[in-house]
Amino acid sequence: MEITKIKDWNLGINTTKPIVVSGPCSAETEEQTIQSCLGVAAQGANILRAGIWKPRTRPGSFEGVGREGLPWLKTASRLTGLPITVEVANARHVYEALKNQVDILWLGARTTVNPFSVQEIAEALKGVDIPVMIKNPINPDLKLWMGAFERFEKVGITKLAAIHRGFASYHNTEYRNQPQWEIPIELRRHLDIEMVCDPSHICGNRKNLFKVAQKAMDLNFEGLMIESHITPDEAWSDAAQQVTPENFGELIRKLVIRDSDSKNATFNNSLDELRHQIDEIDEQIIQFIAKRMDIAREIGQQKKDSNIAILQMSRWEKVLKQRSDYSESKGLSKKFVKGYLQEIHKESIRQQTAIMNETELEKV
Ligand code: PEP
Ligand code: MN
Repeated sequence: MEITKIKDWNLGINTTKPIVVSGPCSAETEEQTIQSCLGVAAQGANILRAGIWKPRTRPGSFEGVGREGLPWLKTASRLTGLPITVEVANARHVYEALKNQVDILWLGARTTVNPFSVQEIAEALKGVDIPVMIKNPINPDLKLWMGAFERFEKVGITKLAAIHRGFASYHNTEYRNQPQWEIPIELRRHLDIEMVCDPSHICGNRKNLFKVAQKAMDLNFEGLMIESHITPDEAWSDAAQQVTPENFGELIRKLVIRDSDSKNATFNNSLDELRHQIDEIDEQIIQFIAKRMDIAREIGQQKKDSNIAILQMSRWEKVLKQRSDYSESKGLSKKFVKGYLQEIHKESIRQQTAIMNETELEKV
């Protein structure tokens, strides 16, 4: 897929890592929008954001000021010299945004999830030269996310970037939306696209924002989208996760940005050497596991000959206890080693069952 990188979007964006998109969750009033944007611009934001049309879970919540808010963002852009971005969810939003010279559009998670909406927006943009950032769909579906990029590619949009905002889960966890980092990593592997992480919607609170933002940097994401409001506690949407422009600035300055690779030969050599050692160790671990399985099968055969059940609970409990004590003395987490042993044990039982029943081992 042909993708034009952010540095070639011709919007004068400073692309030193991280490229930061910031501004309030929603444009509420002219004053709040402009003050929040001026605040984050002073703290180093590169692109200004504000939600104009808000996709709310239940009716009755604040659903955005609508097109009335677009000139407010435009004023913020004029005062700061920064490009602006808004979320569009249908063709009407696209026309309003284009009429008001919005520089970059983004698709929200609730839009990416729906191919009809994505198609409608893509068609509304046929022949228009504008960058589009696409958030992951609400559910962890890599193909659905990829499909959205393909729909824009088909209408000739090449200025594309991805925003990772986490995935909904029915269970209450530490995160509002689970990061499931393997999915954005897979997307980048398939599309070679620049990744922006949105810690605000992943966390749903302020507590974990820095941790998630740093993780995104460690995984070599290009940018961050962080919601910031001049008076976050009074925000009309997403109050719990928004930070003041000052706190936003502090967070950005605290990030440790590492090089994606190093030109330093000594470093590269020593990295190669260490990776070589890891390769060796992995090979040995696999050989040991294979040996352990041979013995387990042998035991299976003997149990069969003596007509003894496969699982002896007391023996298994002793193994778990003894190994986890030992692993702790080696500085390994008990939980990790327990999980590892349980997997090994499951495989031993599977192999022994096959012997007992004289069936062929099913492939898993
Ligand atoms: C937002 O960015 O304010 C928003 C609604 O995000 P998401 O689509 O990730 O829920
Ligand atoms: Mn929000």
